[in-house]
Amino acid sequence: MSEKAVKTTTYEFFGPVGALTLTIMLPLTVIGLYVMCGAGTCDIRIPTLPCWPDFWHPHAYSIFVLWFIFHALIYLSPLGKTVEGSKLRDGSRLKYKINGLYAYVISHIIFAVVYFYFKLPVSFVYDHYLAFAMASTVLSFALAVYLYAKSFAPGAVLALGGNSGNVLYDWFIGRELNPRLGLFDWKTFCEMRPGLIGWVIINYCMMVKQYEIHGVISNSMMLVCFFQFWYILDTFWFETAILTTMDIVHDGFGFMLAFGDLAWLPFTYSLQARYLVDHPTHLSWFACVLIFAFNMVGYLIFRLSNSQKDLFRRSPDHPSVRDLATLSTERGTKLIVSGWWGICRHPNYVGDLVMALAWSLPCGFSNVLPYFYVLYFAPLLIHRQFRDEHHCKEKYGTDWDKYCKIVKWRLIPGLY
Ligand code: NDP
Repeated sequence: MSEKAVKTTTYEFFGPVGALTLTIMLPLTVIGLYVMCGAGTCDIRIPTLPCWPDFWHPHAYSIFVLWFIFHALIYLSPLGKTVEGSKLRDGSRLKYKINGLYAYVISHIIFAVVYFYFKLPVSFVYDHYLAFAMASTVLSFALAVYLYAKSFAPGAVLALGGNSGNVLYDWFIGRELNPRLGLFDWKTFCEMRPGLIGWVIINYCMMVKQYEIHGVISNSMMLVCFFQFWYILDTFWFETAILTTMDIVHDGFGFMLAFGDLAWLPFTYSLQARYLVDHPTHLSWFACVLIFAFNMVGYLIFRLSNSQKDLFRRSPDHPSVRDLATLSTERGTKLIVSGWWGICRHPNYVGDLVMALAWSLPCGFSNVLPYFYVLYFAPLLIHRQFRDEHHCKEKYGTDWDKYCKIVKWRLIPGLY
């Protein structure tokens, strides 16, 4: 068997049964959150079931498709720069388009023109939220089928974890590592564009809806929208960092990532803003300052730790990282054992979790549903950490065990 098509012998996510369960449960969760926290109500116990027309609106489906195409065109445009990605198993490196910041700025300009100049009713997104979520779900299913079929084209480099031979599992996990259409890289595009920017724009639509209903924008809504705007701005500012993440380097592109990027992320991560439309919590200035400071602490941990590792990987002789204590490995690369990466094995996840909590706090304490993001994100990151450590063990062998003896704590020193 060629190096491009190594057979997968171990399953993740409990194999085909887990893949089937997640394929059903993830879209149901998106729908469930909508019915529990819909217009005027937010209660985990009394869901008002949606009617079939709620799932469909021709404008919602058309807007979603146009949004997707619009971002594909920006992605393929001459804007931005082209950089090389990580080395693949066959020794080659793919070229990637880096122009997400342009896409982000252009999307903001278009939203402002549509709302302030053309005065179009952008709160339509709130009114037909489920139809938008369904449009993205349908597209994710279709895209995953296309990607699975495409992975059988000659020369496709398969993901180490996505070639088990079980159709459902491989379709779910992603068979091909970097599916492309010419220069168009499906995985980085879907990870970084329509869903991520869509999330922030959905938040703005929620803000407008809150204003239409209550005649005021609550400070809690402003905080949530600002925090999430900032998080995505940071993602695009450091866009090249995506090229070394597990999703891009290791995972195939199948239903799990497609649905996660296009449907799950924009339509569950915007839950706090949607909640605030009908429950416009007004915070004291003291509470605003505290929550803002808490978010910034999380952001600093997240940003400084990620930047420290990125800089060390790119330029180990840079003055701000050259004095870090490191562990040399047989693989040739070094592992940092001081600074942020000496405190615990995933300081960046800790910062991300602190921010996740800060995004829910503006919603107050009277309802658990706006805390869905942090409650789901904590197990996700813990699971992700196990997956990453498993890959690191495979990459570094006994050197990884030595590293774990030096940096004992996974996330929180003294606790975990
Ligand atoms: P990391 O950025 O933490 O990358 C892990 C890799 O870093 C390892 O495989 C290893 O690769 C390298 N590494 C680990 N420890 C060390 C060390 N001590 N010294 C040097 N290199 C080390 O993981 P992710 O890709 O999972 O996450 C990236 C960011 O994305 C995180 O901040 C995370 O919070 C965020 N994220 C956000 C999500 C969301 O939905 N909001 C979802 C998932 C992630 P190697 O040695 O080969 O370089």
